[in-house]
Amino acid sequence: MSIEMKILKSIVISFLIITSFIYGQDESRYDKYKGIAEEIVKTALLEKKGYNYLEQLCKIGPRLSGSENSLKAIYWAKDKMEKLGFDSVWLQPVMVPYWVRGEVEKVIISKSKYFINRKLAVTALGGSAGTDKKGITAQLIEVGSFKELKNLGDKVKGKIVFINHQFSDGNIDPFRSYGETAGERITGPLECSKYGAVAAIIRSLTADYDNVPHTGVTGKADSIKQIPSVAIGLKDADFLSEALIKDPQLKVNIKLSCKNKSDAQSFNVIGEIKGAEKPNDIIVVGAHIDSWDVACGAHDDGAGCMQVLECLDLLKRMGIKPERTIRCVLYINEENGSRGAREYEKFAEASHEKHIAAIESDRGAFTPRGFYVDSDSLTLEKIKSWLPLLEKSGIDWIKKGGSGADVSYINNCLAKLGYASDSQKYFNYHHSANDTIDAVNPREMELGSAAITIMTLLLSNEL
Ligand SMILES: [Zn+2]
Repeated sequence: MSIEMKILKSIVISFLIITSFIYGQDESRYDKYKGIAEEIVKTALLEKKGYNYLEQLCKIGPRLSGSENSLKAIYWAKDKMEKLGFDSVWLQPVMVPYWVRGEVEKVIISKSKYFINRKLAVTALGGSAGTDKKGITAQLIEVGSFKELKNLGDKVKGKIVFINHQFSDGNIDPFRSYGETAGERITGPLECSKYGAVAAIIRSLTADYDNVPHTGVTGKADSIKQIPSVAIGLKDADFLSEALIKDPQLKVNIKLSCKNKSDAQSFNVIGEIKGAEKPNDIIVVGAHIDSWDVACGAHDDGAGCMQVLECLDLLKRMGIKPERTIRCVLYINEENGSRGAREYEKFAEASHEKHIAAIESDRGAFTPRGFYVDSDSLTLEKIKSWLPLLEKSGIDWIKKGGSGADVSYINNCLAKLGYASDSQKYFNYHHSANDTIDAVNPREMELGSAAITIMTLLLSNEL
Protein backbone atom coordinates (compact mmCIF):
# COMPACT_ATOMS: atom_id res chain seq x y z
CA MET A 1 0.00 0.00 0.00
CA SER A 2 1.43 3.35 -1.01
CA ILE A 3 1.85 6.20 1.47
CA GLU A 4 -0.99 8.06 -0.25
CA MET A 5 -3.29 5.05 0.05
CA LYS A 6 -2.39 4.66 3.75
CA ILE A 7 -3.21 8.32 4.38
CA LEU A 8 -6.46 8.01 2.45
CA LYS A 9 -7.41 4.85 4.38
CA SER A 10 -6.76 6.49 7.74
CA ILE A 11 -8.80 9.55 6.69
CA VAL A 12 -11.72 7.31 5.69
CA ILE A 13 -11.56 5.34 8.97
CA SER A 14 -11.39 8.54 11.06
CA PHE A 15 -14.37 9.89 9.14
CA LEU A 16 -16.37 6.71 9.79
CA ILE A 17 -15.48 6.75 13.51
CA ILE A 18 -16.44 10.41 13.85
CA THR A 19 -19.72 10.09 11.92
CA SER A 20 -20.71 6.89 13.73
CA PHE A 21 -19.95 8.63 17.02
CA ILE A 22 -22.08 11.64 16.08
CA TYR A 23 -24.81 9.43 14.67
CA GLY A 24 -24.73 7.16 17.75
CA GLN A 25 -24.86 10.15 20.03
CA ASP A 26 -27.80 11.63 18.08
CA GLU A 27 -29.56 8.28 18.07
CA SER A 28 -29.52 8.05 21.86
CA ARG A 29 -30.21 11.77 22.15
CA TYR A 30 -33.42 11.40 20.17
CA ASP A 31 -34.27 7.94 21.54
CA LYS A 32 -36.08 9.47 24.48
CA TYR A 33 -38.55 11.15 22.11
CA LYS A 34 -39.66 7.92 20.41
CA GLY A 35 -41.96 6.89 23.22
CA ILE A 36 -43.17 10.47 23.74
CA ALA A 37 -44.00 10.87 20.03
CA GLU A 38 -45.95 7.59 20.00
CA GLU A 39 -47.82 8.65 23.13
CA ILE A 40 -48.69 12.07 21.64
CA VAL A 41 -50.11 10.39 18.52
CA LYS A 42 -52.10 7.86 20.54
CA THR A 43 -53.52 10.47 22.91
CA ALA A 44 -54.57 12.79 20.06
CA LEU A 45 -56.25 9.96 18.15
CA LEU A 46 -58.03 8.48 21.14
CA GLU A 47 -59.21 11.68 22.81
CA LYS A 48 -59.85 13.84 19.71
CA LYS A 49 -60.07 16.98 21.84
CA GLY A 50 -58.99 19.31 19.05
CA TYR A 51 -61.76 18.04 16.80
CA ASN A 52 -64.21 18.49 19.65
CA TYR A 53 -63.02 22.11 20.07
CA LEU A 54 -63.45 22.61 16.31
CA GLU A 55 -67.07 21.45 16.53
CA GLN A 56 -67.63 24.08 19.23
CA LEU A 57 -65.90 26.81 17.22
CA CYS A 58 -67.87 25.97 14.07
CA LYS A 59 -71.15 26.30 15.96
CA ILE A 60 -70.38 30.03 16.35
CA GLY A 61 -70.55 30.34 12.54
CA PRO A 62 -68.44 32.32 10.03
CA ARG A 63 -65.76 34.61 11.52
CA LEU A 64 -65.03 37.40 9.08
CA SER A 65 -62.77 40.13 10.53
CA GLY A 66 -64.74 42.88 12.21
CA SER A 67 -67.96 40.85 12.48
CA GLU A 68 -69.79 40.17 15.71
CA ASN A 69 -69.23 36.44 15.17
CA SER A 70 -65.47 36.92 14.90
CA LEU A 71 -65.51 38.58 18.33
CA LYS A 72 -67.60 35.72 19.74
CA ALA A 73 -65.01 33.26 18.42
CA ILE A 74 -62.17 35.33 19.89
CA TYR A 75 -63.75 35.42 23.36
CA TRP A 76 -64.61 31.71 23.08
CA ALA A 77 -60.96 30.86 22.26
CA LYS A 78 -59.65 32.99 25.13
CA ASP A 79 -62.06 31.30 27.51
CA LYS A 80 -61.02 27.86 26.19
CA MET A 81 -57.33 28.60 26.76
CA GLU A 82 -58.06 29.82 30.29
CA LYS A 83 -60.17 26.75 31.11
CA LEU A 84 -57.40 24.50 29.80
CA GLY A 85 -55.07 26.14 32.32
CA PHE A 86 -52.49 27.75 30.02
CA ASP A 87 -49.98 29.81 32.05
CA SER A 88 -50.88 33.15 30.43
CA VAL A 89 -53.73 34.07 28.14
CA TRP A 90 -54.35 37.51 26.66
CA LEU A 91 -55.99 39.43 23.85
CA GLN A 92 -53.79 41.62 21.69
CA PRO A 93 -55.79 44.58 20.27
CA VAL A 94 -55.82 44.93 16.46
CA MET A 95 -57.84 47.31 14.27
CA VAL A 96 -59.18 45.38 11.29
CA PRO A 97 -60.89 46.22 8.00
CA TYR A 98 -64.61 45.51 8.12
CA TRP A 99 -66.46 44.52 4.96
CA VAL A 100 -70.08 43.37 5.04
CA ARG A 101 -71.78 41.32 2.37
CA GLY A 102 -75.34 42.52 3.03
CA GLU A 103 -78.54 40.84 1.89
CA VAL A 104 -78.54 41.39 -1.86
CA GLU A 105 -76.27 39.39 -4.12
CA LYS A 106 -77.89 38.74 -7.46
CA VAL A 107 -76.51 38.39 -10.97
CA ILE A 108 -78.82 37.61 -13.90
CA ILE A 109 -78.68 37.67 -17.68
CA SER A 110 -80.93 40.66 -18.19
CA LYS A 111 -80.92 40.93 -21.99
CA SER A 112 -80.64 38.02 -24.37
CA LYS A 113 -82.58 36.28 -27.14
CA TYR A 114 -82.03 32.91 -25.47
CA PHE A 115 -81.11 33.23 -21.82
CA ILE A 116 -83.23 36.04 -20.42
CA ASN A 117 -83.48 36.14 -16.61
CA ARG A 118 -81.08 33.22 -16.18
CA LYS A 119 -79.68 33.56 -12.64
CA LEU A 120 -75.97 32.91 -12.11
CA ALA A 121 -74.36 31.28 -9.04
CA VAL A 122 -72.10 34.00 -7.66
CA THR A 123 -70.69 35.40 -4.43
CA ALA A 124 -69.22 38.87 -3.99
CA LEU A 125 -65.47 38.99 -3.54
CA GLY A 126 -64.36 40.21 -0.12
CA GLY A 127 -63.75 43.95 -0.25
CA SER A 128 -65.83 44.42 -3.42
CA ALA A 129 -67.74 47.64 -3.97
CA GLY A 130 -71.54 47.32 -3.98
CA THR A 131 -74.10 48.68 -6.45
CA ASP A 132 -77.20 50.81 -6.07
CA LYS A 133 -80.64 49.17 -5.92
CA LYS A 134 -81.05 48.97 -9.72
CA GLY A 135 -77.65 47.38 -10.05
CA ILE A 136 -75.25 47.63 -12.95
CA THR A 137 -76.37 46.42 -16.38
CA ALA A 138 -73.83 46.08 -19.16
CA GLN A 139 -72.59 43.94 -21.98
CA LEU A 140 -70.23 41.14 -21.05
CA ILE A 141 -66.77 40.53 -22.41
CA GLU A 142 -64.75 37.38 -21.66
CA VAL A 143 -60.97 37.17 -21.20
CA GLY A 144 -58.79 34.21 -20.27
CA SER A 145 -55.92 36.15 -18.75
CA PHE A 146 -54.45 39.55 -17.88
CA LYS A 147 -52.67 39.47 -21.20
CA GLU A 148 -55.95 39.22 -23.08
CA LEU A 149 -57.36 42.02 -20.94
CA LYS A 150 -54.39 44.21 -21.76
CA ASN A 151 -54.75 43.44 -25.47
CA LEU A 152 -58.40 44.49 -25.37
CA GLY A 153 -57.49 47.68 -23.49
CA ASP A 154 -60.15 50.37 -23.90
CA LYS A 155 -62.54 47.91 -25.60
CA VAL A 156 -63.67 46.82 -22.13
CA LYS A 157 -64.82 50.35 -21.30
CA GLY A 158 -68.39 50.39 -19.97
CA LYS A 159 -68.52 46.59 -19.99
CA ILE A 160 -68.55 43.83 -17.39
CA VAL A 161 -65.38 41.75 -17.73
CA PHE A 162 -65.61 37.99 -17.22
CA ILE A 163 -62.16 36.60 -16.32
CA ASN A 164 -62.48 32.92 -17.11
CA HIS A 165 -59.03 31.52 -16.29
CA GLN A 166 -59.28 27.82 -15.42
CA PHE A 167 -57.73 26.62 -12.19
CA SER A 168 -55.46 23.90 -13.58
CA ASP A 169 -56.19 20.31 -12.67
CA GLY A 170 -52.84 19.32 -14.11
CA ASN A 171 -50.52 20.31 -11.26
CA ILE A 172 -49.66 17.70 -8.63
CA ASP A 173 -49.89 20.43 -5.98
CA PRO A 174 -53.18 22.38 -6.18
CA PHE A 175 -51.48 25.24 -4.29
CA ARG A 176 -49.52 25.77 -7.47
CA SER A 177 -52.75 26.12 -9.47
CA TYR A 178 -53.96 28.57 -6.82
CA GLY A 179 -50.76 30.57 -7.22
CA GLU A 180 -51.30 30.68 -10.98
CA THR A 181 -54.84 32.10 -10.72
CA ALA A 182 -55.13 33.97 -7.40
CA GLY A 183 -53.64 37.13 -8.91
CA GLU A 184 -56.68 37.50 -11.17
CA ARG A 185 -59.00 37.49 -8.18
CA ILE A 186 -56.81 39.81 -6.10
CA THR A 187 -55.94 42.41 -8.72
CA GLY A 188 -58.19 41.42 -11.66
CA PRO A 189 -61.09 43.76 -10.84
CA LEU A 190 -58.67 46.68 -10.36
CA GLU A 191 -57.02 45.93 -13.70
CA CYS A 192 -60.47 45.82 -15.35
CA SER A 193 -61.35 49.13 -13.70
CA LYS A 194 -58.18 50.75 -15.08
CA TYR A 195 -59.52 50.15 -18.59
CA GLY A 196 -62.96 51.50 -17.69
CA ALA A 197 -64.86 48.26 -17.01
CA VAL A 198 -67.89 48.69 -14.73
CA ALA A 199 -67.83 45.32 -12.96
CA ALA A 200 -65.96 42.00 -12.96
CA ILE A 201 -66.96 38.33 -12.78
CA ILE A 202 -64.12 35.94 -11.88
CA ARG A 203 -64.13 32.16 -12.37
CA SER A 204 -63.91 30.51 -8.91
CA LEU A 205 -60.47 29.28 -7.86
CA THR A 206 -61.15 25.56 -7.69
CA ALA A 207 -61.03 22.54 -9.97
CA ASP A 208 -63.89 20.80 -8.16
CA TYR A 209 -66.66 20.74 -10.72
CA ASP A 210 -69.75 21.95 -8.91
CA ASN A 211 -71.55 25.29 -9.02
CA VAL A 212 -70.53 26.63 -5.59
CA PRO A 213 -68.76 30.00 -5.91
CA HIS A 214 -65.53 30.58 -3.92
CA THR A 215 -64.97 34.03 -2.48
CA GLY A 216 -61.67 35.58 -1.35
CA VAL A 217 -60.06 38.95 -1.03
CA THR A 218 -59.94 41.40 -3.90
CA GLY A 219 -57.60 44.36 -3.79
CA LYS A 220 -57.98 48.05 -3.23
CA ALA A 221 -55.89 50.95 -4.49
CA ASP A 222 -56.30 54.61 -3.68
CA SER A 223 -55.82 55.70 -7.27
CA ILE A 224 -58.17 53.19 -8.94
CA LYS A 225 -61.96 53.13 -8.67
CA GLN A 226 -63.18 49.95 -7.06
CA ILE A 227 -65.80 48.13 -9.14
CA PRO A 228 -68.34 45.49 -8.05
CA SER A 229 -66.77 42.04 -8.43
CA VAL A 230 -68.04 38.51 -7.90
CA ALA A 231 -66.79 34.93 -8.16
CA ILE A 232 -68.90 32.56 -10.23
CA GLY A 233 -69.39 28.78 -9.78
CA LEU A 234 -67.63 26.59 -12.35
CA LYS A 235 -70.74 25.20 -14.01
CA ASP A 236 -72.15 28.67 -14.52
CA ALA A 237 -68.76 29.95 -15.70
CA ASP A 238 -68.83 27.35 -18.47
CA PHE A 239 -72.49 28.09 -19.17
CA LEU A 240 -71.76 31.80 -19.46
CA SER A 241 -68.83 31.23 -21.79
CA GLU A 242 -71.03 29.13 -24.13
CA ALA A 243 -73.92 31.60 -23.83
CA LEU A 244 -71.58 34.38 -25.00
CA ILE A 245 -70.68 32.41 -28.12
CA LYS A 246 -74.37 31.97 -28.97
CA ASP A 247 -75.33 35.53 -28.02
CA PRO A 248 -72.34 37.91 -27.90
CA GLN A 249 -74.65 40.86 -27.27
CA LEU A 250 -76.11 39.49 -24.04
CA LYS A 251 -76.24 41.81 -21.05
CA VAL A 252 -75.85 41.03 -17.38
CA ASN A 253 -77.29 42.81 -14.36
CA ILE A 254 -75.29 42.76 -11.11
CA LYS A 255 -76.87 43.79 -7.80
CA LEU A 256 -74.72 43.76 -4.66
CA SER A 257 -75.42 45.34 -1.30
CA CYS A 258 -71.93 44.73 0.11
CA LYS A 259 -69.91 47.62 1.47
CA ASN A 260 -66.63 48.53 3.11
CA LYS A 261 -67.19 50.00 6.57
CA SER A 262 -64.73 51.78 8.81
CA ASP A 263 -62.10 49.74 10.65
CA ALA A 264 -63.30 47.74 13.65
CA GLN A 265 -61.72 46.76 16.95
CA SER A 266 -60.54 43.17 17.07
CA PHE A 267 -57.86 41.00 18.69
CA ASN A 268 -55.28 38.27 18.30
CA VAL A 269 -55.81 35.55 20.91
CA ILE A 270 -52.60 34.47 22.61
CA GLY A 271 -51.99 31.72 25.16
CA GLU A 272 -48.76 30.12 26.32
CA ILE A 273 -47.18 27.54 28.54
CA LYS A 274 -43.95 28.76 30.08
CA GLY A 275 -40.71 27.03 29.24
CA ALA A 276 -39.24 25.09 32.15
CA GLU A 277 -35.64 26.10 31.40
CA LYS A 278 -35.63 29.01 28.94
CA PRO A 279 -38.88 30.91 29.49
CA ASN A 280 -37.76 33.89 27.39
CA ASP A 281 -37.15 31.72 24.34
CA ILE A 282 -40.37 31.52 22.34
CA ILE A 283 -41.74 28.90 19.96
CA VAL A 284 -44.86 30.25 18.23
CA VAL A 285 -47.55 27.88 16.96
CA GLY A 286 -49.99 29.94 14.91
CA ALA A 287 -53.10 29.88 12.74
CA HIS A 288 -55.76 32.43 11.80
CA ILE A 289 -59.03 32.77 13.67
CA ASP A 290 -60.83 34.80 10.99
CA SER A 291 -62.61 33.03 8.13
CA TRP A 292 -64.65 34.06 5.12
CA ASP A 293 -68.33 34.70 5.76
CA VAL A 294 -69.82 31.98 3.55
CA ALA A 295 -69.23 29.08 6.00
CA CYS A 296 -67.58 28.45 9.35
CA GLY A 297 -64.16 27.97 7.73
CA ALA A 298 -63.66 24.50 9.19
CA HIS A 299 -60.51 23.79 7.16
CA ASP A 300 -59.60 27.45 6.62
CA ASP A 301 -58.54 27.95 9.28
CA GLY A 302 -60.68 26.74 12.17
CA ALA A 303 -58.95 23.37 12.20
CA GLY A 304 -55.51 25.01 12.07
CA CYS A 305 -56.44 27.11 15.11
CA MET A 306 -57.62 24.09 17.04
CA GLN A 307 -54.52 22.08 16.07
CA VAL A 308 -52.16 24.71 17.46
CA LEU A 309 -54.31 25.15 20.55
CA GLU A 310 -54.42 21.37 21.01
CA CYS A 311 -50.62 21.30 20.75
CA LEU A 312 -50.32 23.20 24.06
CA ASP A 313 -53.22 21.25 25.53
CA LEU A 314 -51.63 17.88 24.65
CA LEU A 315 -48.27 18.87 26.18
CA LYS A 316 -50.04 20.03 29.31
CA ARG A 317 -52.38 17.07 29.65
CA MET A 318 -49.54 14.63 29.13
CA GLY A 319 -47.36 16.37 31.72
CA ILE A 320 -44.62 17.20 29.18
CA LYS A 321 -42.66 20.28 30.24
CA PRO A 322 -41.00 21.91 27.21
CA GLU A 323 -37.72 23.71 27.86
CA ARG A 324 -38.80 26.83 25.96
CA THR A 325 -42.08 28.74 26.11
CA ILE A 326 -44.72 27.46 23.67
CA ARG A 327 -47.00 30.27 22.53
CA CYS A 328 -50.22 29.72 20.62
CA VAL A 329 -51.13 32.76 18.51
CA LEU A 330 -54.56 32.85 16.86
CA TYR A 331 -54.15 35.70 14.38
CA ILE A 332 -57.04 37.85 13.24
CA ASN A 333 -57.43 39.14 9.67
CA GLU A 334 -55.21 36.80 7.64
CA GLU A 335 -57.83 36.66 4.89
CA ASN A 336 -58.15 40.33 4.07
CA GLY A 337 -55.34 42.37 5.53
CA SER A 338 -52.85 40.45 7.76
CA ARG A 339 -53.32 43.14 10.40
CA GLY A 340 -53.06 40.56 13.19
CA ALA A 341 -49.72 39.31 11.87
CA ARG A 342 -48.39 42.86 11.65
CA GLU A 343 -49.50 43.65 15.18
CA TYR A 344 -47.75 40.53 16.49
CA GLU A 345 -44.66 41.50 14.48
CA LYS A 346 -44.55 44.88 16.27
CA PHE A 347 -45.01 43.18 19.64
CA ALA A 348 -42.24 40.64 18.92
CA GLU A 349 -39.86 43.40 17.78
CA ALA A 350 -40.42 45.44 20.93
CA SER A 351 -40.27 42.54 23.36
CA HIS A 352 -37.19 41.38 25.27
CA GLU A 353 -37.97 37.79 24.34
CA LYS A 354 -36.16 35.73 21.73
CA HIS A 355 -38.28 34.12 19.04
CA ILE A 356 -36.56 30.85 18.18
CA ALA A 357 -39.03 29.24 15.78
CA ALA A 358 -42.62 29.46 14.56
CA ILE A 359 -45.00 26.94 12.97
CA GLU A 360 -48.15 27.83 11.06
CA SER A 361 -51.06 25.54 10.26
CA ASP A 362 -53.14 27.00 7.40
CA ARG A 363 -53.22 24.44 4.60
CA GLY A 364 -56.20 22.33 5.59
CA ALA A 365 -56.62 19.52 8.12
CA PHE A 366 -56.22 16.48 5.88
CA THR A 367 -53.77 13.60 6.38
CA PRO A 368 -50.31 14.90 7.36
CA ARG A 369 -47.74 15.07 4.59
CA GLY A 370 -44.85 17.27 5.69
CA PHE A 371 -43.34 20.49 6.96
CA TYR A 372 -41.96 23.31 4.84
CA VAL A 373 -39.00 24.97 6.55
CA ASP A 374 -37.78 28.49 5.97
CA SER A 375 -34.30 28.64 7.57
CA ASP A 376 -30.59 28.48 6.82
CA SER A 377 -29.31 25.15 5.51
CA LEU A 378 -27.67 24.03 8.77
CA THR A 379 -30.91 24.50 10.70
CA LEU A 380 -32.83 22.79 7.91
CA GLU A 381 -30.53 19.75 8.09
CA LYS A 382 -30.99 19.55 11.83
CA ILE A 383 -34.78 19.69 11.55
CA LYS A 384 -34.69 17.11 8.76
CA SER A 385 -32.83 14.71 11.06
CA TRP A 386 -35.97 14.54 13.22
CA LEU A 387 -38.00 12.96 10.42
CA PRO A 388 -37.98 9.43 11.97
CA LEU A 389 -39.77 10.91 15.01
CA LEU A 390 -42.26 12.89 12.89
CA GLU A 391 -42.99 9.79 10.80
CA LYS A 392 -44.80 8.41 13.82
CA SER A 393 -47.57 10.93 13.09
CA GLY A 394 -47.63 10.18 9.36
CA ILE A 395 -45.25 12.94 8.21
CA ASP A 396 -43.42 11.90 5.01
CA TRP A 397 -41.10 14.80 4.36
CA ILE A 398 -39.41 17.92 5.68
CA LYS A 399 -38.17 20.32 3.01
CA LYS A 400 -37.22 23.88 2.29
CA GLY A 401 -40.18 26.11 1.51
CA GLY A 402 -42.43 28.93 2.63
CA SER A 403 -43.91 28.83 6.11
CA GLY A 404 -47.22 30.71 6.17
CA ALA A 405 -48.78 34.13 5.73
CA ASP A 406 -48.92 34.97 9.44
CA VAL A 407 -45.69 33.59 10.91
CA SER A 408 -43.70 34.94 7.96
CA TYR A 409 -43.96 38.34 9.72
CA ILE A 410 -41.86 37.18 12.68
CA ASN A 411 -38.32 38.45 12.20
CA ASN A 412 -35.00 37.08 13.41
CA CYS A 413 -36.04 33.57 14.31
CA LEU A 414 -34.01 30.51 13.42
CA ALA A 415 -36.77 28.68 11.58
CA LYS A 416 -40.30 29.30 10.34
CA LEU A 417 -42.29 26.24 9.41
CA GLY A 418 -45.51 25.54 7.53
CA TYR A 419 -47.41 22.39 8.38
CA ALA A 420 -48.67 20.73 5.18
CA SER A 421 -51.51 18.25 5.02
CA ASP A 422 -52.52 16.44 1.85
CA SER A 423 -53.63 19.24 -0.47
CA GLN A 424 -55.63 17.33 -3.12
CA LYS A 425 -59.08 18.27 -1.78
CA TYR A 426 -58.30 21.59 -0.09
CA PHE A 427 -59.58 23.82 -2.90
CA ASN A 428 -62.90 21.92 -3.04
CA TYR A 429 -63.70 23.69 0.24
CA HIS A 430 -61.48 26.79 0.38
CA HIS A 431 -63.43 30.08 0.82
CA SER A 432 -66.76 28.45 -0.06
CA ALA A 433 -69.99 27.31 1.56
CA ASN A 434 -68.52 23.78 1.38
CA ASP A 435 -66.00 24.50 4.18
CA THR A 436 -68.10 23.05 7.01
CA ILE A 437 -67.32 20.75 9.95
CA ASP A 438 -68.33 17.60 8.04
CA ALA A 439 -65.53 18.34 5.55
CA VAL A 440 -62.99 17.63 8.33
CA ASN A 441 -62.10 14.05 9.19
CA PRO A 442 -61.37 13.78 12.95
CA ARG A 443 -58.49 11.28 12.59
CA GLU A 444 -56.79 13.27 9.84
CA MET A 445 -57.07 16.47 11.84
CA GLU A 446 -55.80 14.83 15.04
CA LEU A 447 -52.78 13.34 13.27
CA GLY A 448 -51.96 16.91 12.23
CA SER A 449 -52.23 18.10 15.84
CA ALA A 450 -49.88 15.30 16.87
CA ALA A 451 -47.38 16.15 14.11
CA ILE A 452 -47.37 19.83 15.13
CA THR A 453 -46.97 18.87 18.80
CA ILE A 454 -43.99 16.57 18.16
CA MET A 455 -42.35 19.21 15.96
CA THR A 456 -42.99 21.93 18.56
CA LEU A 457 -41.44 19.85 21.33
CA LEU A 458 -38.33 19.18 19.24
CA LEU A 459 -38.00 22.86 18.30
CA SER A 460 -38.32 23.74 21.97
CA ASN A 461 -35.80 21.27 23.30
CA GLU A 462 -33.41 20.50 20.46
CA LEU A 463 -33.04 23.52 18.17
ZN1 LIG B 1 -56.35 30.39 5.63
